[in-house]
Amino acid sequence: APAVIWFRRDLRLRDLPTLLSAAETTGDALALFVLDPALLRPSGAARVAFLAGCLRALDDDLGGRLLVATGDPVDVVPAVAAQVGAREVHVSADYGPYGSRRDAAVAAALAENGRELVATGSPYAVAPGRVRSSSGGGYRVFTAYRRAWYDHGWRAPADTDADTLHWLTPPPPRDPLPEVDVDATLPVPGEAAARARWADFRTGFDDTTDAPGYATDRDRPDLDATSRLSAYLKFGCLHPRTLLHDLRNATGDDAATFRSELAWRDFYADVLHHRPETARRNYDARFDALPHDSGPDADRDFEAWCTGRTGYPIVDAGMRQLLAEGWMHNRVRMITASFLTKDLHLPWWRGARHFMTHLVDGDLASNQHGWQWTAGSGTDAAPYFRVFNPVTQGRRFDPDGDYVRRWVPELRGIAGGRVHLPGSGAPGYPAPIVDHATERLAALDRYATIKGR
Ligand code: FAD
Repeated sequence: APAVIWFRRDLRLRDLPTLLSAAETTGDALALFVLDPALLRPSGAARVAFLAGCLRALDDDLGGRLLVATGDPVDVVPAVAAQVGAREVHVSADYGPYGSRRDAAVAAALAENGRELVATGSPYAVAPGRVRSSSGGGYRVFTAYRRAWYDHGWRAPADTDADTLHWLTPPPPRDPLPEVDVDATLPVPGEAAARARWADFRTGFDDTTDAPGYATDRDRPDLDATSRLSAYLKFGCLHPRTLLHDLRNATGDDAATFRSELAWRDFYADVLHHRPETARRNYDARFDALPHDSGPDADRDFEAWCTGRTGYPIVDAGMRQLLAEGWMHNRVRMITASFLTKDLHLPWWRGARHFMTHLVDGDLASNQHGWQWTAGSGTDAAPYFRVFNPVTQGRRFDPDGDYVRRWVPELRGIAGGRVHLPGSGAPGYPAPIVDHATERLAALDRYATIKGR
């Protein structure tokens, strides 16, 4: 009997353990992707467009044999398995709150007819739940997790490609891929583009000159110093294990820092796995008592933040980059998130929802916990009194102001780092909607109310 390979967050054919697991019992397979309205609904156009592009690339790599079906996977997957007479449906495990519930329901539906959902591997170098602290639970602090993560280690890449299995021509009907019009400039979708980007980026790690590399420049939004692999990792066009394997002999600071960033990704997935409710709720429950602003003024401030019109240049540049590229530099994600929570006193989940809609790399674990970290309610809680100053952050990490001028055309007439000062009066650019010094003190007052609870 043929197997069904149900693709989800693993839109690639190289280093895909699922294919080896299916090949143990059969040579024939049907490739399936299910467009699940429950997942598409909260996704913005940019992420859906990138996903559609990745599916088109996968379909090409499979010689036009990817079956795309729309509906609830609990209905679609068993129906497709029955149609082709498959006994096994192979997947990479999903550890997210929705994905794990869905997979349990699909497995139960398949079992009713003697079929099996077989999960092999995950989107992570080390699957959530694997690395355990001495008390047996999950880690609460990143550096401790990372040490255990290194000690645990990861498998070698799986030796797979399109020829690992013989792909069946899908039975009709085949749903068309979503056609989405987007204004955002997106990365080239698909596995080949992801590999090309990675090959290009990592040559910098072997650089023997003294030129600063990833480790020093990754905080500079004005430079193109980070990998920009996040959207590919999100959809599994590349697996982090592949990257870690390619870096196995790299000893420099750049490779060490990059490995550590991949550990953050695994860490947040692990945290969400142990505490699924933290997708919506404070990781540190003391923060449930923190007062937030609401009402028409708060809504107006939120709107100004979303559209990049707060009057704080680095904040506005970041928010506009998000809309233009479906991506924002990590340093600026922290600055804009701090501004929303500490200068505007709005709840982190409001900003997180806006990010999740627009980010092409939007990932529940990394996004919600990136937000909670900045808000102070998350793991590794930054001291509550740490409030990012958008002007000094801007001057430090975008010293010549090039990043701001790239995204905020109204400020292009202002040369150098002075562009970071609010209230320049540049034509068409808003005056600051709040005074940072005042709001910083207001934030500290609010934090004082929950301190020591
Ligand atoms: P690189 O610097 O090249 O890093 C390589 C990879 O490491 C990234 O692709 C990513 O997979 C991982 N990584 C790096 N930093 C982090 C981090 N802090 N946490 C988790 N993984 C990390 N990342 C997402 O993938 N999806 C999100 O939805 C997301 N939301 C965020 C929200 C906030 C408020 C903050 C502060 C951070 C968020 N991040 C998120 C983490 C980080 O900003 C992005 O992963 C990074 O900017 C992606 O760009 P890159 O691929 O060039 O990163």
